[in-house]
Amino acid sequence: MAFDSLSEKLQNVFRNLRSKGRLTEDDVKAALKEVKLALLEADVNFKVVKQFTKSVQERAIGSDVMNGLNPGQMVIKIVNEEMVKLMGSETTELLLKPSNEITVLMMAGLQGAGKTTTTAKIAGKLKQKGRKPLLVACDVYRPAAIDQLKINGEKQGVEVFAMGDKNRPVDIAKAAMEHAAKGGFNVVIIDTAGRLHVDEEMMAELVEIKENIEVTETILVVDAMTGQDAVNVAGTFDEKIGIDGVILTKLDGDTRGGAALSIRAVTGKPILYVGMGEKLSDLEQFYPDRMASRILG
Ligand code: GDP
Repeated sequence: MAFDSLSEKLQNVFRNLRSKGRLTEDDVKAALKEVKLALLEADVNFKVVKQFTKSVQERAIGSDVMNGLNPGQMVIKIVNEEMVKLMGSETTELLLKPSNEITVLMMAGLQGAGKTTTTAKIAGKLKQKGRKPLLVACDVYRPAAIDQLKINGEKQGVEVFAMGDKNRPVDIAKAAMEHAAKGGFNVVIIDTAGRLHVDEEMMAELVEIKENIEVTETILVVDAMTGQDAVNVAGTFDEKIGIDGVILTKLDGDTRGGAALSIRAVTGKPILYVGMGEKLSDLEQFYPDRMASRILG
């Protein structure tokens, strides 16, 4: 399961803290050193870890906490609160226009991150909410991606707009917008092409779509299993094309937690959803407080 190792380590630190009646400053510092190591081992961004432990320490060494009835519990509470803050505190919803307008979601991400699967997952969620989504197959470099989107769209009962692999993505997207307007669709979800690595051509393609179509939200799909790489990818995409939110996939695997804990703090962009499996229903809203509870056990 995700975060197992991190959770176990943090729980050990907390068990030690709880067992002490009174806490000295040195006790807190020693505990936070352990927390720091556990976070670094979980592949949390170095700067984020530093800032996080500094904030916890400043709050924990305040006299109220140290003189509290149960100082260990207080420190744990502070760690929890700071962790929730790290992940953005509040749940961020997808920004949808009113139903009589067309919301355009552009899905971006590297190959294998789970973009095409997630695109279909989102369509299902929006359909459940009473929206009429249209999926658009703009990944023209990987013909299998077009078929995959068609198959998944069918499973979700959502129409897929495709023009094969001979047209330019921007032209497919434009045609899809016309189709959406005629067909009464109110959400257009564009599945764009990924690459194995960030490259200029991919970015240029995404920028071109954004220049020609009024994209409501650009959503980046990243693989939680890749840890800090996912965070770096998010930073680069934001810089090059501008992103509004992130979906973190494969959180059902044995990911260490680094991406979930760093993305918001490093990029300033919220995690909107998390992918919890390969099935099309395995997409969950992201709740910073629940995630912190899960990690802290
Ligand atoms: P794309 O290249 O980014 O479009 O990636 P795909 O959508 O083709 O997904 C790549 C692989 O990851 C597929 O085998 C998906 O089933 C799998 N996948 C996607 N999301 C998740 C997830 O949340 N959990 C798990 N376990 N697998 C996922």
